[in-house]
Amino acid sequence: MQNFHITLADTSSTSVSQCFVSTDGVYNARARVLGGGSCINAGFYTRASSSYVKRAGWDEKLVNESYPWVEKQIVHRPKLALWQKAVRDALLDVGVSPFNGFTYDHKYGTKVGGTIFEGNGRRHTAAELLASANPDNLDVLIHANVEKVTFDTRGKKPKAVGVIFKDENGRKHQVFLSKKRGSEIFVSSGAIGSPQLLLLSGIGPKKDLQKMNISVVVDNKFVGKGMQDNPLNTIFIPTKNHVEQSLIQTVGITKKGVYIEASSGFGQTNDSIQCHHGLASAEIGQLSTIPPKQRTKNAIQDFKDRKQDIPFEAFKGGFILEKLATPMSKGELKLINTNPKDNPAVTFNYFSHPYDLQRCVEGIRIIESLVKSAHFTNDIGCDEETTEKLLNMSVKANINLIPKQINDTVSLEQFCKDTVITIWHYHGGCHVGKVVGHDYRVLGVHRLRVLDGSTFKESPGTNPQATVMMMGRYMGLKITRERLGRRGATNV
Ligand SMILES: Cc1cc2nc3c(=O)[nH]c(=O)nc-3n(C[C@H](O)[C@H](O)[C@H](O)COP(=O)(O)OP(=O)(O)OC[C@H]3O[C@@H](n4cnc5c(N)ncnc54)[C@H](O)[C@@H]3O)c2cc1C
Repeated sequence: MQNFHITLADTSSTSVSQCFVSTDGVYNARARVLGGGSCINAGFYTRASSSYVKRAGWDEKLVNESYPWVEKQIVHRPKLALWQKAVRDALLDVGVSPFNGFTYDHKYGTKVGGTIFEGNGRRHTAAELLASANPDNLDVLIHANVEKVTFDTRGKKPKAVGVIFKDENGRKHQVFLSKKRGSEIFVSSGAIGSPQLLLLSGIGPKKDLQKMNISVVVDNKFVGKGMQDNPLNTIFIPTKNHVEQSLIQTVGITKKGVYIEASSGFGQTNDSIQCHHGLASAEIGQLSTIPPKQRTKNAIQDFKDRKQDIPFEAFKGGFILEKLATPMSKGELKLINTNPKDNPAVTFNYFSHPYDLQRCVEGIRIIESLVKSAHFTNDIGCDEETTEKLLNMSVKANINLIPKQINDTVSLEQFCKDTVITIWHYHGGCHVGKVVGHDYRVLGVHRLRVLDGSTFKESPGTNPQATVMMMGRYMGLKITRERLGRRGATNV
């Protein structure tokens, strides 16, 4: 857990985290490792709401059998850090109630969710779920980069027949689907990787594919469309003493369309070089004190170079995070080249919809009242002297204190736009009904499905990983039961 920001700051070609910068200028990250985002994420685990499950058209009973399968194997109850307790109590103080205790369920109010970190900070990941598989039926290739899915286009409807991939030595391999009835290819390359792979394989908007000299298998204008990233805005709260490090454990599910989360505990020594801001660290691109378009590599380097001049107080305290629940702003993903290892061009258009901006402002106002709540100041011991000292140096230190013009709506809107960073919950690109059907089969071809966050029209729960993992089990059971026939499959 302590290494969260270190992994994301590693931009080498062998890093398990691959940085990408959306055309909006916001730095982001995608996983490049078996287990995907669960290997690099902040660990918070929480289910989707029952209304989300209904909207998705999923079988509720099967969903409720599938979440616990994940939870039993890799999810833990967190040992609540002081900062998280203070935020929990403050959320209740300001009316984000009731208190729903420790629960995976998504309900209005305040709760403590699960985590894939053990008490000692050791991470569990989705890759461990493979341990439940029958090893005789499973081959796992790591460092295998899929270049494209191949098709037999002779029939009426193209049929996926295999994939071409490169191994760690750059050698190309072509593999074919078994001839067995029901054999299929599942693409689970995530919200960036799956639309990218479909496009590379010839499924997408004809004009765009032709520009890249890719043979068109299916002309589908929706591939890569509807990309969204829930904007994150944070407020730094300095404290007199060090606060224990924590990622996300508490969440406030408000009726204003924002989720309030928190992170804390940065520098552990008096050496400011060692200091960082956890999931809001400038070093990982979360440089929130300058507007997105100005967040260049040089600006990040500049922050690193000046770090030793930053007062130590700027690293004592924590953040309160505001995530927009269901952004209405949408963007798109387009290929820049045909190298699957390169990032495509991704645009999220943060806050291009006025309702998103309005909800962000509401969220900042909730944070303002939260920080002023009696519980918060008592539990945390916010020190007015330190706060005052930091107020005028927030830009230098990459920390956002609550803007002084808190009653000025216009400037709060600007604050939202200028300080937007990511919580890495981007989704879309292969929407259900547009690119895949309700059974996640890719429209217009046989024997190919996409199953991951690219199919989401909105991010599930307050944080998505629980539902992405649940979907794997859910679809696995559904397909197996369908194949075996209900009567023969009661124990599946
Ligand atoms: C830094 C960070 C923090 C986060 N914090 C949280 C959190 O606290 N709680 C939470 O619920 N969610 C969190 N998330 C989000 C969550 O991890 C993701 O939503 C989730 O992992 C998405 O799952 P996915 O299967 O859609 O895609 P991914 O997890 O991105 O998996 C895609 C996989 O496909 C592989 N891949 C891509 N292209 C290819 C190719 N061409 N060939 C072969 N393999 C390929 C990748 O290596 C990767 O393993 C966080 C994400 C990040 C990045």
